[in-house]
Amino acid sequence: MKNLPKLEPAYNRRQDCPDYTEQIWQPNWRCFCCEDRGIVAASLARLVIDGYNYERNLLPVCQRRGCYEANKWEHLKDDLDFRLTVEICGELDKISREDWKEVAKNNYRRIIDFKTLTTRLTAPGVKDRTHNDEREIAIRKQESQAALDGRKKQALSEFAELQESDSQRAFGF
Ligand SMILES: [Zn+2]
Repeated sequence: MKNLPKLEPAYNRRQDCPDYTEQIWQPNWRCFCCEDRGIVAASLARLVIDGYNYERNLLPVCQRRGCYEANKWEHLKDDLDFRLTVEICGELDKISREDWKEVAKNNYRRIIDFKTLTTRLTAPGVKDRTHNDEREIAIRKQESQAALDGRKKQALSEFAELQESDSQRAFGF
């Protein structure tokens, strides 16, 4: 029998890759208008299209200058909404970047608060942590994690829903 090659495992989820680093501070999208998906993020689209619902409405294409992600939706172009212009998408990109900066700042503040608290309580001279101290640490930890998870979950579920609605459209349901 011939020697078989040894291959590295391939991952279908980016977060499973060994070199993946958590995007704690800010996502590394090139385009914050469509989050590199070509379709404007639903929460941003709603700022322009009143009551926008990606299940009922045509999907708004990202036309931001320098973003070419929409090309991958070429096959669905009859089902797409091209009304969000270069200027609008540029503005939505700016809004989202600002929003993420704010999220990062808040997360940073929470983490610093948490670190200060744990440092204070583990410093020499602090003999016994009280039950309340332990509880406070646990709560702060949960809060920081929940804030990060919430933001991540929202992005992921929007993406999943978008993909789902895309495949429904593709199959004409
Ligand atoms: Zn874009």
